This record gives sequence, structure tokens and C-alpha cells, in this order.
Amino acid sequence: MVTGATGYVAGWLVKKLLEEGLTVHAAVRDPKNKTKLAHLDELAANSAGSIKYFKADLLQPGSYAEAMEGCELIYHTASPYTLTVNNPQKELIDPALKGTQNVLSQASETPSVKRVVVTSSCAAIYTDASDCENAPNGVLTEDVWNTTASLSYQPYSYSKTLAEKEAWKMAEAQDRWDLVVVNPCGVFGPALNAKASTSESTNIMKQMADGTMKMGVPNIGIGVVDVRDLAEAHFQAGYKPEANGRNIIAGHNTSFLEMAQILHRKYADKYRVPDKALPKWLLTLVGPIVNKAITRPFVKKNVTVEWKADNSKSKRELGITYRPLEETMLDDFQALISAGVIK
Ligand code: NAP
Repeated sequence: MVTGATGYVAGWLVKKLLEEGLTVHAAVRDPKNKTKLAHLDELAANSAGSIKYFKADLLQPGSYAEAMEGCELIYHTASPYTLTVNNPQKELIDPALKGTQNVLSQASETPSVKRVVVTSSCAAIYTDASDCENAPNGVLTEDVWNTTASLSYQPYSYSKTLAEKEAWKMAEAQDRWDLVVVNPCGVFGPALNAKASTSESTNIMKQMADGTMKMGVPNIGIGVVDVRDLAEAHFQAGYKPEANGRNIIAGHNTSFLEMAQILHRKYADKYRVPDKALPKWLLTLVGPIVNKAITRPFVKKNVTVEWKADNSKSKRELGITYRPLEETMLDDFQALISAGVIK
């Protein structure tokens, strides 16, 4: 069973599961919404596996019972990923935390379940790139937990931290299923259903093309992983018996500037993709006016600060090889152009 099967990240996972000939129970909020599901129908029609839809909501206790029935493996990917919210408790924390409680308590009540894979995030490890400096040897590892996000500062990161902690607590309270957590950094790469994507990943790419960043890109240090490599990581986390614990899934320690420059080289003649960084002092002044998530403390702790994480566990234990950043960025942009999202 896959929660949030309509999502950007889940799409490639569902594709992989279907290609392996598996039966996927797709738990979605609206099984009648063809705009959100057509790509999954098409994938199922062209693969050895099959898909069944079930109506479920993270905030509705018991709503995953039918979807989970008879399943051995649960992928819990559903959680809102957005950086601009009005009510962080309602829009981020509740679905992340109560949703995890809902899905995992259902796993404990469903006798067939043997493993749960939770899609957490590197956001449960760090808030700001400057947190890397405080990590042992200046590098984020699976041993590090986010201690700096809160309801009022980077609430998305806070929501992922609370949800993952709850998942570990619930896993320890029983002994039928084991928990494997994947902790992806920023996910990019082609969306299977770009038109309907609600992911912040798509939003960031759109902003690189639509002139929002024409004055320059905020040179924030981040990690990037390709959505297709992340699907493989989810698959291995589910099917490798020895998979365990937290797993940082990060292909590249990079920055928005490097990402933009890759796009600029190919698309500068048609789109207003920046190839320069917006000066930090200027961003400190205008950031909070342009976007309420770009606060002064955020600029100070992220802009021109290097992001570093150790991805060796994912390579060693899950067998992941990461594709080049250039392939990720160019395929992502092209998919958005083809879908008419970038015009
Ligand atoms: P997305 O495309 O917006 O997917 C979010 C999914 O969550 C959608 O399928 C959405 O379903 C579902 N969802 C939201 N609220 C729900 C609710 N109340 N009940 C049931 N389902 C609900 O975002 P994404 O980027 O793929 O993110 C998927 C997961 O990956 C999240 O857990 C996110 O934290 C994690 N992650 C993402 C990134 C990244 O850079 N994208 C990085 C690290 C971790 P609807 O279609 O019904 O809205």
C-alpha cells in the first residue's frame, strides 16, 4: 500500500512497483479525481502489475483500514510539502503527525503488515544549512536530529521531525512490523504528472523559469536527489530484508546557484533562468517582502552556507547509485515544458 500515491515522489515509486509486477493499493484522497490519477492508470495499463484505489485521508482515523487489508508492505509517503502556509499547525503539523499516527496505528491493527517504510526527510535532520557546521565533522549523518525547527520557524521541517519521531516511537511499541525510514534531501527530476503537482519541488523549478528569480538566485546550500533514484531507494528500503533505520538519500551536496547555472546553460535563450546569485545583503533586505519564508534569520543561516550530508549508508546498504545533477535538472525542466507548466 502506498499513501499519497498521487504525489510527485510517490509517482515514480508506484511506477517501479507496477513494473515489478506487484499489486499496488493506492490510498488517495479522491479516487475519482482523474486529473490526479490518469498517469497512474496509464502506468498500470502498460506494466505487469495492477493498481487499486482506496479513499483515505490522513486526518480521518481508520480511513486506511480497507486499503491496508492483506498488504505486507506499507509505504507512507503522504504529507504536505509546502513552504508557504497561513496556519502551520493545521496545514503541516496535523497531517504529518496525526497522519503518521493514523497510518502506523492501522499497521499495528492489520495482521498482514510486516514492514512500514516512512518517507521522512533530511528536514528531520536539519533546518538550516548552517546546522551542518554543528554536526560531527561538519557533515549531516543519520545520527543527527533536527533540534532547531519550530512551529514558528520552518514549520515544514518541524512537521517532518515530529512525524518521524512519532513513527519510531510507534514502531518500538510493537514487534510485528519493522520500520525503515528514508530521509531524502531536496527532490528534483521529471514529474510524472507535472500539471497537477502540488510539490514545492515543482514550485521551485517554476520560479527558476518564470522571472521570479531574474535578479538572481538565492544562493542557498542544499542537497539534491533525483526523484527516480529516490524511487529506487524506497523500493530497496521495502524489499531488502536487511534495510534498517534512517537512510539519507542525497545525490549531491549543491546549491540553488549551481542548479540554476545548469539550466541557464541550456535554456537561457528562451527562459529567464538566472545564472547569478542575488547578493546576500540584498536578499536580507527584500527577501521578507518577496516571500515570507525568506526571513532574515533564514537568509543568514542558509545563503552562501555549504550543505553537506553523508550518503554512504544509502550506497552501501541500499545499493543506490546517484545520477548526475545535470541529468536531474535538465529532465525536470524539460518535463515541465512538455506538460505546459513552464511556458
Ligand atoms: P506532493 O506531490 O505534494 O505529495 C504530497 C502527497 O500527500 C499527495 O499525494 C497528497 O495527496 C498527500 N496528502 C496531503 N495531505 C493529505 C491528507 N490530509 N490526506 C491524505 N493525503 C494527503 O509532495 P512530494 O514532494 O511528492 O512529497 C511526498 C513526500 O516526500 C512527503 O512526505 C514529503 O515530506 C517528502 N519529501 C519530499 C521532498 C521533496 O523535495 N519533494 C524532500 C524530502 C521529503 P493529494 O493528491 O490528495 O493532495
